Amino acid sequence: MKSIPKQAQVVIIGGGVIGCSVAYHLTKLGWTDVVLLERKELTCGTTWHAAGLVGQLRATKNMTKLAQYTSELYATLEDETGQATGFKQNGSISVAPDAGRFEELKRGASMAKCFGLEVEVISPREAREMYPLLNIDDLEGAVFLPKDGQTNPIDVTQALAKGAKMGGAKIFENVRVCGIETKSAGTSGARRVSGVEIEHTGGSETKIISAEIVVNCAGLWGHQVGKMAGVNVPLHAAEHFYIVTEDIGLPSNLPVLRDPSSWIYAKEDAGKMLVGCFEPKSKPRPLDSIPEDFSFGQFAEDWDHFEPAMLNAMHRIPKLEDAGIHTFFNGPESFTPDDRYILGEAPELSNFYVAAGLNSIGIQSAGGAGKVLSEWIVNGHPPLDLWDVDIRRFHSFQGNSQYLKERIEETLGLLYAMHWPFRQSETSRGVRKSVLHDRLEKAGACFGEMSGWERANWFAPEGKAARYEYSYARQNWFEASASEHRAAREKVALFDMSSFAKFMVQGRDAEKVLNRICANEVAVVPGKAVYTSWLNERGGIES
Ligand SMILES: Cc1cc2nc3c(=O)[nH]c(=O)nc-3n(C[C@H](O)[C@H](O)[C@H](O)COP(=O)(O)OP(=O)(O)OC[C@H]3O[C@@H](n4cnc5c(N)ncnc54)[C@H](O)[C@@H]3O)c2cc1C
Repeated sequence: MKSIPKQAQVVIIGGGVIGCSVAYHLTKLGWTDVVLLERKELTCGTTWHAAGLVGQLRATKNMTKLAQYTSELYATLEDETGQATGFKQNGSISVAPDAGRFEELKRGASMAKCFGLEVEVISPREAREMYPLLNIDDLEGAVFLPKDGQTNPIDVTQALAKGAKMGGAKIFENVRVCGIETKSAGTSGARRVSGVEIEHTGGSETKIISAEIVVNCAGLWGHQVGKMAGVNVPLHAAEHFYIVTEDIGLPSNLPVLRDPSSWIYAKEDAGKMLVGCFEPKSKPRPLDSIPEDFSFGQFAEDWDHFEPAMLNAMHRIPKLEDAGIHTFFNGPESFTPDDRYILGEAPELSNFYVAAGLNSIGIQSAGGAGKVLSEWIVNGHPPLDLWDVDIRRFHSFQGNSQYLKERIEETLGLLYAMHWPFRQSETSRGVRKSVLHDRLEKAGACFGEMSGWERANWFAPEGKAARYEYSYARQNWFEASASEHRAAREKVALFDMSSFAKFMVQGRDAEKVLNRICANEVAVVPGKAVYTSWLNERGGIES
């Protein structure tokens, strides 16, 4: 084994697609003293078995930008590194069997246009012209994204690792991080990371690597690695399934197919078809049930669990009815309480960064996530608004394993569920309740979740159920909200502010400090309130 250094500017924990992408991008920014540690072999956790779909449209502009960048990177990585990636852009078709889903797809298509993606809304017949195996009997319409693609996750990770090494990074396999070293970061009791403790079977004597910066890219082990550092990384593994058929002679230019209402996706794989699913109720997998030496591993088949998705797939792609099954795959992926990944510097520990909890989009996110996290590390702040995925959005209760297990049962399926506006989580509710909760309930409150609080979002009138009826059209609570609004403007309204954070700022310089971070003048007479943004040192809005 080559000798492990005793010191590095950056230590990255985990050699999956995310860790390798962070290493690659740090070296691109000129940081060459980078060491990546992998407990077994590169890609051996989740990355090796990913289906390899690389879509580009995400829920927000910035997230789409990152996915777009990933595609651009994968398209050029082979030329740059000499390592093949298997990346191809055959496009993707998403189909809708009912008006609600078609509405959602069309809304997605409008967003895609605004975000600069090529997109076409197509008829069922046009979809079948592009995808001859498709049963279109019950389809309303479809959307085609010509630049979506697929890749080989192992090869793309190896290409990133090779690129990182070409840029000066050092990669060590069979080295497990077993502890995080910290030191005081000043007088306020704050702490910063100072290195990692390692275990390995090689000949090197190094037991501790001192480091200015440590990046936790440990995938489903990210929660555990976070714990070593006293950092909350709320993610939980779930079992994730696909099958691969025998060779059925599929052409290599077949687009990826998604039928979210049937929970399924399908891609061509060397003449075979890979069919995966995002079922509405997933199977969470506690970390302590995954063996310590898990490497290129998988879990037992569960046909009972997969069968409903398979039946849906056979309805949509009838050719599957007589295709032999070559592989049944069941492997782990980590999911987060809100289906968004976890990125950024941990609030509990300076210079300890996290990139984990990829919610089954780690391959398509790796390029963008690795790039922006590297810029964040090098410049000390994120290069764009990354609040969607910022680790600081989480609360400590979200690291609770029971909370996570229950919530993850729901979040896997949300990838393909209808993305209704105002949708409320159904699991792990009731964590925090206001002292007025029972009275609000009696008054007809329909509760939503905000930072774990049950917040009264609106009040149902006498005789009506306090329940959301999700829709893209006018909301069922429109009138209820209007009457509250009128009461607040014309009569009296009482607001329960329990779910809002409150800070007590006191002392001689309280006003000065607040006026520095607030965009508005806050020096007002006692009893007055000021509505204002909070700014960061660059004048950007933080809150
Ligand atoms: C069935 C399935 C299909 C999927 N399909 C797709 C898809 O089509 N498109 C897509 O974008 N995504 C897909 N994904 C998701 C994707 O595979 C993951 O999001 C991605 O691989 C996560 O990468 P990672 O680097 O975070 O984790 P990992 O690949 O698990 O890497 C983490 C690494 O950290 C190492 N490690 C852990 N602890 C330590 C330690 N203490 N010290 C040193 N090393 C440590 C592990 O050994 C591991 O190699 C799929 C996932 C599954 C399960």
